[in-house]
Amino acid sequence: MDFTSLREAFPLIAGRPGLVYLDSAATSQKPKRVLEALDRYYKELNANVHRGAYRLSVAATEAYEEARRRIARFLGAEEREIIFVRNTTEAMNLVAYAWGLRNLKEGDEILVTEMEHHAGLVPWHLVAGLTGARIRAIPLTEEGRLDLSALDTLLTERVKVVSVVHMSNVLGTINPVAEIAKKAKEVGALVVVDGAQSAPHLPVNVKALGADFFALSGHKMLGPTGAGVLWGRYEVLEGMGPFLGGGEMIREVHVDRSTYAPPPQRFEAGT
Ligand code: PMP
Repeated sequence: MDFTSLREAFPLIAGRPGLVYLDSAATSQKPKRVLEALDRYYKELNANVHRGAYRLSVAATEAYEEARRRIARFLGAEEREIIFVRNTTEAMNLVAYAWGLRNLKEGDEILVTEMEHHAGLVPWHLVAGLTGARIRAIPLTEEGRLDLSALDTLLTERVKVVSVVHMSNVLGTINPVAEIAKKAKEVGALVVVDGAQSAPHLPVNVKALGADFFALSGHKMLGPTGAGVLWGRYEVLEGMGPFLGGGEMIREVHVDRSTYAPPPQRFEAGT
């Protein structure tokens, strides 16, 4: 690997030989071509997407939708399954509230793991508090792997959702998500994957994982802060109500009620 040209690609690092940045798992530095693309957007294309019939707005919308197509290809998904959010945290909250709040009840269980990031845990705490569902966790072995021998006892018909981190931000462990998803499907549970650390490091094909949701943060994978993605299986998204309400996610609006656009727009309220 040519470290000199690699360092040159990152303006913040280039020309600072003393600077060694090893915190990319928290947030990555941004390459010149990403910064240039952002700059070009604001100088040449900036307009509100999906809001105007004038040429600039149409061009901005096309660029936005091209980004959606590329993300879909990157994840092995369909375009209509890609929802733009702020980050993994918002993606996990979207699933917990838009799916969990409406589908969980007392007696149901949410199965997580003992290595979840707070973003994969706290949204479930909040929704469990509102629905009466209970949270259980797959324990860890001494080597920091998931103790899958516990899965057969934990995965009962009561489990309605299994929410698991693909790659741990603390341990680096890569979890066997496809295997877990297969077992979760046998009891009819929904599978949510926190891909914040795996999407930057592993080839990901969401269909091969057998999950229903996959969340990632652009800022951990050379992209700008404030742009993340939630992939959701279309049949599941179609059956869900919105998370946030506002412009762009509606079909019809009256003073006292509204109807909602199909996914992914249903989940992309506001600009
Ligand atoms: N999940 C994992 C595994 C993470 O490492 C992180 C970031 N440390 C998050 C979720 C949350 O990401 P964000 O702050 O971009 O929402």
